[in-house]
Amino acid sequence: MTPSRYQRQIVLPGIGDQGQARLAAARVVIVGVGALGCASTEMLTRAGAGLAAAGGCLALLDRDVVELTNLQRQCLYTEADARAGLPKVEAAAARLAAINSEVAIRPLAADLTSANALRLLGCDQATGAKPSLIIDGTDNFATRFLLNDIAVKFQIPFCYAGVVAGAGTQATFIPGQTGCLRCLLPTPPDPSSLATCDTAGVLAPAVQIVAGAQVADAIKILTGNEARLSHSVLSFDLWTNRRTRIAIPRPDPACPCCGQRVFDFLNAPADDELARLCGQNSVQVAGHSALDLALLAQRLEPWGGVARSGVMLRFDPADLPTTRFTIFADGRAIVRGTTDPARARSLYARYIGA
Ligand SMILES: [Zn+2]
Repeated sequence: MTPSRYQRQIVLPGIGDQGQARLAAARVVIVGVGALGCASTEMLTRAGAGLAAAGGCLALLDRDVVELTNLQRQCLYTEADARAGLPKVEAAAARLAAINSEVAIRPLAADLTSANALRLLGCDQATGAKPSLIIDGTDNFATRFLLNDIAVKFQIPFCYAGVVAGAGTQATFIPGQTGCLRCLLPTPPDPSSLATCDTAGVLAPAVQIVAGAQVADAIKILTGNEARLSHSVLSFDLWTNRRTRIAIPRPDPACPCCGQRVFDFLNAPADDELARLCGQNSVQVAGHSALDLALLAQRLEPWGGVARSGVMLRFDPADLPTTRFTIFADGRAIVRGTTDPARARSLYARYIGA
């Protein structure tokens, strides 16, 4: 008899044929197929999560196309994908199918908003439909807070992860058992106070460590080994050699999300409405919070031309010669050089943060 391709995993304590079968039947949503999403999805695909024959699937959600500067760390993409400017979900789906043809990959090229999130994630209160697990591969807190609302409302394990420069953070929130993201961080941080990957860089090995810890938790949950979860937040910086783990608190009754069950981000007006065409070749993006323009100017300086005048900041990214940002202290920005609201939001998240 030919050994199962998953033999080296099946022999692990607590997995066995039964755990492997549960993994095969899992329906996992990976939100964002950038550096983290590529690494996580590749591991889940090789592990045999979401097999078509078992009724499982891996749904990939991303709004961006492959660019040359992605290749340093986004492990599913090639130069040909970047030259063709393929949507990330399409390039990823082709690569993953070549790795494991048994997996049901569902590419979703879309911009996740509060208006479409439940449909895209396959959550339906009437039928009780929901994914087995949400993998965070996003690069911004606005989307993470939206995902946290959905995870708590529908009782879905949420595997949070983030990487900037050499630093990584990873935690798995289990609704009902652990506190949620909002127990730790009541409101999204001011974007101008945060480094983004496009301005602070990303160390690819940090991505692999975070994704590894994230997928280890996912495999524990999906194979019935939840008791092996650490229920802690892992933080490290490979560049400064720091590493800590702190316990995730119990659900906080005062938490607006898991305590009070007020889902501010899921119930907020869709960001579609917050990004709209203005003028011939410009889109206005309404930010989520006020910005410190002096701080932002400092952060953007290495990445292109920056000009400050009173209430606004002009930024011309060096690597996108046809794009210009006009940024206001209330968080608003006009992105010139596109007519696509999703593209404008993506550029906003990339340089300003979200
Ligand atoms: Zn909470």
